[in-house]
Amino acid sequence: MDIDELLKDIINYEGVIYKKEVSLKKYNTYALKAVSKHFFIPENIAAFSKMLSLLNENKMDYLILGGGSNILFLDDVINIPVIYTGFFTRIQKLSDKIIVYSGAKTSDVVKFACKNSMTGIEFLSGLPGSVGGATYMNARCYGFSISEYIDQVGVIDESGEYFHISNEKCNFGYKKSIFQQKKYVIIDVTFNLELGTKKIINTRAKCHKNDRKSKHQYKYPSAGCVFLNDYEANIVAGKVIDELALRGTSVGGASISPHHANFIISKNASGKDIYQLINNVRDKVLAEKNIKLCPEIKIVSSDSSDVENNHTSALDEIYGLINKVKEKIL
Ligand SMILES: Cc1cc2nc3c(=O)[nH]c(=O)nc-3n(C[C@H](O)[C@H](O)[C@H](O)COP(=O)(O)OP(=O)(O)OC[C@H]3O[C@@H](n4cnc5c(N)ncnc54)[C@H](O)[C@@H]3O)c2cc1C
Repeated sequence: MDIDELLKDIINYEGVIYKKEVSLKKYNTYALKAVSKHFFIPENIAAFSKMLSLLNENKMDYLILGGGSNILFLDDVINIPVIYTGFFTRIQKLSDKIIVYSGAKTSDVVKFACKNSMTGIEFLSGLPGSVGGATYMNARCYGFSISEYIDQVGVIDESGEYFHISNEKCNFGYKKSIFQQKKYVIIDVTFNLELGTKKIINTRAKCHKNDRKSKHQYKYPSAGCVFLNDYEANIVAGKVIDELALRGTSVGGASISPHHANFIISKNASGKDIYQLINNVRDKVLAEKNIKLCPEIKIVSSDSSDVENNHTSALDEIYGLINKVKEKIL
C-alpha cells in the first residue's frame, strides 16, 4: 500500500497527534536539520498499539524516536513515519521500585530517584536521551549498564499487544538488548532500587555529571560514542582511533573530537558529512589494523530506520574481500 494512503487512516486516530513536515533539529543531539514528513506523537497505549499493528501489518518501516541522542539522520528529508515517545513521561514510585514511561528523560528519572532517596542509577546522571532509548541501547557508563537495575519492561509487540517481559528475557548484553532484534516498542521500564542516603546519592549524581562536563561532552553537538567497543577481543574503539592519530580529522563540518577519539562532533555538519567521516575512520582502521569497527549510533535514512542493519552495504562486501585476500597472503 502507498505510504500516504496508509497514513491517512492513522492521522485520524484518536489519541495520536499528527504533524506534517516537522523539523527534527531539536529532536536530535547532532542538531541536524532533517525534516520529518510524517511525525506522530501517540498519547496513550491503545492508540500506540493500534498504529503499530497497522504499520507492521503493512510491513512499513518507521522510526521510534526518544531523545535522538544516539541517532544520525543521514538524509535531509525523512519519509518513513517518525513516532516520538515524548508524551509518555510519567515516573511513579512503588515501594522499592520506580516505574518509568519510556519517553521520560533519563536525567529526570535520576533526579526523581535522588529526591526519593533511592540509590542505584545515579551513574546515569548527565546521560542525554530517554529511558526507552537507554533501555533499547542498554546504555552503559562508569562501569555499569542500565540493565543491571531493570526489573521488567512493558512493550508493544508487532501485532500491537502490550505486555511485560522480565529482565532475564530481555537478552541484555554489552550495549545489546532484545529490542534491537525484535520489533518491540518499549512503553515502560520498572527499576529495582534500594533506599539510600539522599546526600550521598546527590553527590554521586553530581560527580558523574561534572565528570562529563569536564570532558567537554556537551561542548559541541554529538551523539556520544560512535563505535562499539569489543571487550571480548580487547578492542576499545577510541584507543584504536587514537593509535592512528585521527583526532581532529574532519569531513565538512564533522570532525573527530579533540577531547575524545570515539566522539564525532558537528559544527554545522550535514548527516552525510558525519556518515562519510564514520566510513573514512572504518576504512582506515580496517586497512591499518585489520579491525572492523561497528557503529553504535543508529543511522536513519529517508526510507530506512536502520541503514546498517537493513542492508548489506557495499562496504561490507569490500571488507569481506579484503579479509579473504589477507588470509590468502598470510
Ligand atoms: C554527550 C553524549 C554522551 C553520551 N554518553 C553515553 C554513555 O556514556 N553511554 C551510553 O551508553 N550512551 C551515551 N550516549 C548515547 C545516548 O545518550 C544513549 O544511547 C541514550 O540512552 C539514547 O537514548 P535516546 O532516547 O536519545 O535514544 P534515541 O537516540 O532516540 O534512539 C536510539 C535507538 O533506540 C530506539 N528507541 C528509542 N526509544 C525507544 C522505545 N521507546 N522503544 C523502542 N526503541 C526505542 C530508537 O528507535 C533508536 O534505534 C551519549 C550521547 C551524547 C550526546
